[in-house]
Amino acid sequence: MTDTTSIHDNFDHMHLWHPYTSTHDPLPTYKVDHAEGAVITLADGTELIDGMSSWWCVIHGYNHPVLNEAIKKQIDKISHVMFGGFTHQPAIDLGKLLLSILPPSMNHIFYADSGSVATEVAMKMAVQACDNPKKTNFATIRSGYHGDTWNAMSVCDPVTGMHGAFGPALPIRHFAPAPQCRFDDEWNPDDFRPMQEILEKNVDTLAGVILEPIVQGAGGMRFYHPQYLRELRKTCDRLGLILIFDEIATGFGRTGKLFAWEHAGVEPDIMLIGKAITGGYMTFAAVATTAAIADRISDSQSGCMMHGPTFMGNPMACAVALASTRLLLESPWQQRIQEIEKIMRQHLSIAHEWDFVDDVRVLGGIGVIQLKNDVNVGEFQKLCVKEGVWIRPFGKNAYIMPPYLAVSDAQVEKLCDALLKIIKTQNGAL
Ligand SMILES: *Cc1c(COP(=O)(O)O)cnc(C)c1O
Repeated sequence: MTDTTSIHDNFDHMHLWHPYTSTHDPLPTYKVDHAEGAVITLADGTELIDGMSSWWCVIHGYNHPVLNEAIKKQIDKISHVMFGGFTHQPAIDLGKLLLSILPPSMNHIFYADSGSVATEVAMKMAVQACDNPKKTNFATIRSGYHGDTWNAMSVCDPVTGMHGAFGPALPIRHFAPAPQCRFDDEWNPDDFRPMQEILEKNVDTLAGVILEPIVQGAGGMRFYHPQYLRELRKTCDRLGLILIFDEIATGFGRTGKLFAWEHAGVEPDIMLIGKAITGGYMTFAAVATTAAIADRISDSQSGCMMHGPTFMGNPMACAVALASTRLLLESPWQQRIQEIEKIMRQHLSIAHEWDFVDDVRVLGGIGVIQLKNDVNVGEFQKLCVKEGVWIRPFGKNAYIMPPYLAVSDAQVEKLCDALLKIIKTQNGAL
């Protein structure tokens, strides 16, 4: 039977791979028909308030007239042209705008086609800048996530990440424990010591350090103390190591600052942005670096940055990224994220008292309830659809990160209430 209005599609179930799925027993998928603002509408007309921003990226909501217009206009001019030997106005205008909002020391931008590719590019930049066959390795912190390609996987958390499946095929990195000092705790200097020891001990083989500043996303939804980054910056300077901030998830306002490095006031040598860069319209990412790193790469034996994806600097992606970033900067984004943060704090804090809950934390446009046990995702999502919301937990974390420039207060409240109700139902507390 083919039922084109059904929200579960048999062909999809039989033949299409979804993220991290088994073909034997895939989790149910729900067919989306269209979406508008913060509401996603399924093929059967069910409306869901989006609590995920489609994994951090749809910050302005869906079907935004300004972004639609930007991409339509660009299609009529040119949708793609090779970046080898050509350039174009959207790439130039976007580069100017990004350099005006990135850390002041950033001076060069490499356009990449996805976050994972940006991670590869950043790590390649660091190795090339060292130009020393001994200094090619990296240190990072546990509970990180940097993407699904080979090198990106190698710096993801070695236990909850993908090391299990790929084992010795992955390069072996140095992992310090995840920072334990929480974002708004008092700083404990012991927190940085394990990282300092790793860096001092391995300085001769390290190119640099890569980590997500302040908020660790898909590796654990953790928020850590800004002082950790200040200590890390000092140590990297002292040892001559390159510091890479992966702001693919944290960028464009999500944590309450435009970029998360601002919480600590220390600049990286290389910075990655992606996800929200196009407002969720297209895959796109960028790697920014300093003049000093760019000079070192250009002075290296290879004499140039050794990377050049086919779709580098795609004009449609640049045009929509430009429109999205302008729209963000013209909006009262900071005030709006503060309001959403306040609503989430007020509504979610009650879960602190529940015995099946380990932790509740809110920062900027991110609200996390960490449970004591793994969440049954399939069941959870069925309950979401019943409640008219879209929340996708992983592991022990059930969290909301709504499209902050599209949701109303009432929609944020509904997301919080539904999240609380669902975890109560799943834990036999309703
Ligand atoms: C999502 C993510 C990536 C990978 O980006 P993709 O576009 O999915 O390849 C890398 N780093 C961080 C911090 C991310 O959240």
